[in-house]
Amino acid sequence: MNNIAVKVNDLTVAYHKKPVLWDVDLEIPEGVLMAVVGPNGAGKTTLIKAMINLIKPITGRTLFWGEPYQNNRKRVGYVPQRGSVDWDFPTSVLDVVTMGTYGKLGWFKRPGKKEKQKAIEALKKVDMLPYADRQISQLSGGQQQRVFVARALVQDSDIYFMDEPFQGVDVKTEKSIVKLLEELKNNGKTVIVVHHDLQTVTEYFDWVTLLNTIIIDYGPVKKTFTEENLKKTYRSPLDSFYKNKGK
Ligand code: ADP
Repeated sequence: MNNIAVKVNDLTVAYHKKPVLWDVDLEIPEGVLMAVVGPNGAGKTTLIKAMINLIKPITGRTLFWGEPYQNNRKRVGYVPQRGSVDWDFPTSVLDVVTMGTYGKLGWFKRPGKKEKQKAIEALKKVDMLPYADRQISQLSGGQQQRVFVARALVQDSDIYFMDEPFQGVDVKTEKSIVKLLEELKNNGKTVIVVHHDLQTVTEYFDWVTLLNTIIIDYGPVKKTFTEENLKKTYRSPLDSFYKNKGK
């Protein structure tokens, strides 16, 4: 078994006192390409945000290689949902991607030639180099998504969290993002992706977490992505609650 990259213990998160994640335990080995699936409102985005300290849980904690997030911040990359970002902010595609390298620079160091070059290479990888000077407000949804992925690539992290990277992209872009994710995995990176298309889970991922407020199951796709588990995941969380209570 590989080393454990991420370990989640007893994680419970609530908004306005209503729990949206309940007692989550997870162990994610290094080097997996893992989908997080579950119905709308299952808590997928909340799980990722809580893992990287963007949301404070009621209880529980997440460790990266056995240590808190703060100690490993630079090794963890995050691609948020496209819709959660202000795309009217007046900045160019190249600048957004170059900013991704900031984590690696020390205080008061400005990105120089090396960082720009890295950003250019990442833009090439996602086929966005011709748009380098364009304002981000003038991009299509799919192009925005590719800029996000390029930004994550220049961070050169060891773990990547991506929240629905295929949302709003065409088939060709989806395939090229999948290729990049596979490349990351082949380079030993751990990639965790919120994903809503059940049809492609087996094709794109080797690990899966099934979530609906509680963790239904997680592990290798072959073993975990079963009809029975899917049924449990896509019925209402209260069903499983009552079942556990023997009602
Ligand atoms: P998913 O990503 O699986 O669709 P989310 O994590 O976005 O689920 O949301 C889980 C639940 O938490 C949903 O019922 C959602 O309405 C609620 N929720 C998410 N964000 C907030 C928030 N900022 N304030 C209040 N409720 C929220």
